[in-house]
Amino acid sequence: MAVLRFLSGCATALWRENTGSPTSVRRFQRRRLGRLLAHAAAQVPFYRDLYGGRVPSPDEIGSLPAVTKAALMARFDDTIAGGRLKLADVVAFGRDKRVVGQQLHGDVIVSVTSGTTGQVGYFVCDRPSFEELRGTLFARVLKNKLLNPFDVLRFGPWRPYRIGFVTATGGHFVTYNLSLHTPLVARLAYEGRAFSILTPMPQMCRELEAYKPHFVHGYPTFMEALAHEQLQDRLNVTPEVISLGSEPFTATAKQALAAAFPRTLVVESYGTTECVSLASQCRHGKLHINEDVCVLESVDATGKPVPDGTLGVKVLLTNLVNRLQPIIRYELGDQVVIGPPDCACRSPFRTVRVLGRTDDTFFLLGPDGRYHAHTPIPFETLFLDVEGLMQYQLVHEAQNRLRVYFTRDPRADAAALRAKIEAVFRHYLEQNTLTGSVEVAFEAVEEIPRDPNTKKIRQIVSRVPMPTNADELSGPWRIKGLGNG
Ligand SMILES: [Zn+2]
Repeated sequence: MAVLRFLSGCATALWRENTGSPTSVRRFQRRRLGRLLAHAAAQVPFYRDLYGGRVPSPDEIGSLPAVTKAALMARFDDTIAGGRLKLADVVAFGRDKRVVGQQLHGDVIVSVTSGTTGQVGYFVCDRPSFEELRGTLFARVLKNKLLNPFDVLRFGPWRPYRIGFVTATGGHFVTYNLSLHTPLVARLAYEGRAFSILTPMPQMCRELEAYKPHFVHGYPTFMEALAHEQLQDRLNVTPEVISLGSEPFTATAKQALAAAFPRTLVVESYGTTECVSLASQCRHGKLHINEDVCVLESVDATGKPVPDGTLGVKVLLTNLVNRLQPIIRYELGDQVVIGPPDCACRSPFRTVRVLGRTDDTFFLLGPDGRYHAHTPIPFETLFLDVEGLMQYQLVHEAQNRLRVYFTRDPRADAAALRAKIEAVFRHYLEQNTLTGSVEVAFEAVEEIPRDPNTKKIRQIVSRVPMPTNADELSGPWRIKGLGNG
């Protein structure tokens, strides 16, 4: 069943992109949205209440109320179709490291995220829907390869296409889930392996070299670090494709990847835990929205869609596939500009430009007298498992002085929470040989302050400028000399 849904998701996604027109895509999307709204209004108490007991028409989407992660989490049980799941069971499963890669009740994929708001969220998707989303992602990222029969036939059970996911592992994270739940038949043609971003860099390089991936997916900041390893001959891999997600792809990262992997196709994707893949980049560098599986709306402060080509205050996501926990007009932490489909690649899908996340990389002075780059996502993962933590902010206040602000779930024990946060940091510092050279202060607060400009909570903030003397930087980020020759 799962494999059929994966293969049909993949095939229809390829077919729709190659034969569809903007009008037919719109029609398909509208039909799907209509069915989703009818389902949510009838089967899901949260939406039944939100819509006052009536079934909204798909044409009304722009005026329906938006929902937040906090609102969904506060009434989690009511967000599940037919009351099939309880939050307590999902949280217990989501926290259990031993069942990572398994499904709750045999057919529910659980994904945990702290996303851009610092609040931990639990999202569930039925296995068939997850497979359709995965199939779509697969088709969109690998379309050029899948449409070339010679390229496809190079791979098979005798030579699987190797995909390396450089990601946060060891928990129920959506990218890690993608690397784990590979359907059996798909495994004949491709294999996925996850590489933990908490692995020390020299070991990561050895493991990647041994695996020889054809395809690598990772966070831009981390792939930038790997690009520098490659440039300095500490890493030697030649993937055909590198795909990037979860963070903005900065100009310096682009430069580093182009220099380190000149023959590799580098593509960005825009994904979230709540819908797997929202948009994928084409050969011409544009991110096209996967409008057959989701609706993205760029809206103003009142939740009304803004005209194409203008920057909205926030972006709302509707997942057209997941029926178990419908996600309708859900606020993502990003700001985007949505544009018409017209692109040289002839995709029927509209485009999106993500301004998105603004987390910083820390440059910490190590005992070797050099500055080492510490990217945001490994820090974020430290906070994910901390029971009783509501929100956090990590600030690099002064060179090698960090401060953790955190808020507590009122039901959690304050002392135990502080001890847990201290312990995960102690472990991180130990692993990175920074014990003794980095000071961390922990401060329980009532509320995490919002950024005065964006009004968002920035989670990983550096007030320390990047070191200017490239000679003092360790391998990664010795970017200065790159562009100049
Ligand atoms: Zn395009």
